[in-house]
Amino acid sequence: ILKGKTAVITGSTSGIGLAYALAFAAEGAAVVINGFGDAEAIETIRGELAAASGAAALYDAADMTKPEQIASLVERAADETGSVDILVNNAGVQHVAPIESFPPEKMEAILAINLTSAWYAMRAAVPLMKANGWGRIISTASAHSLVASPNKSAYVMAKHGLVGLTKTIALETAQHGVTVNCISPGYVWTPLVEAQIPDTMTARGMTREQVMNDVLLAAQPTKAFVTPEQVAALALFLCRDEAKAITGANLSVDGGWTAA
Ligand code: NAD
Repeated sequence: ILKGKTAVITGSTSGIGLAYALAFAAEGAAVVINGFGDAEAIETIRGELAAASGAAALYDAADMTKPEQIASLVERAADETGSVDILVNNAGVQHVAPIESFPPEKMEAILAINLTSAWYAMRAAVPLMKANGWGRIISTASAHSLVASPNKSAYVMAKHGLVGLTKTIALETAQHGVTVNCISPGYVWTPLVEAQIPDTMTARGMTREQVMNDVLLAAQPTKAFVTPEQVAALALFLCRDEAKAITGANLSVDGGWTAA
């Protein structure tokens, strides 16, 4: 369903972003992946994506804290593949600490990577999508765009902000064939979640098992982690023509977390 289209996915060298890239490539899209990681591993992923799609697969190392690199990521994607039809703002980082010991530089980095980067990427991609009369912008928000948890002040403020940005750009593009939505996962088992377990153990004085069961899955009524593939399946649906009336929405994939 995505033959001839290009998807740019920020933060797609692992986790949910990689699942989006694989899902889009399987439908024939050219994909532009981005994020950090081992160069050889990234090159292997790039090759697999190209083989799966039969289309271009590019890697761009743009740092989401650098506005000029974000703009050039979008420009390069358009130059080398012919268009940017789908933009997925997915890069994200987390830091867990009470506000009084939360390092300001970590707060600034979370805002830049999880929120401001999406503004810059949309600013670069929207004119291309408007000119084509078709576009899909999807941002990975979080259950933390709807509810809060202690010790995640920067992340919760960034994810709430992403929803406001999404609504605004949905209105600005509503008559141009472009839809703009957030997907809000609950806990998905990825490196991002694994990495916050030690900090949560320290912040709450808990064991690893207690953090998994009493903090992470405590919030999720299904008592199961969401999978990256389940999140990517919704993104793929949003790219279909049947989904063109869905815009400005924040769609939960959270095992019932925000229903509670
Ligand atoms: P992940 O750590 O596996 O992936 C994060 C990606 O972002 C990686 O590719 C990483 O290299 C990239 N990245 C980090 N800093 C970057 C920077 N400065 N510039 C460019 N790329 C950068 O994590 P994930 O869990 O797959 O998270 C993806 C998104 O999903 C994030 O926005 C996260 O907030 C969101 N999310 C995750 C969960 C979860 O439970 N895992 C739940 C809700 C929302």
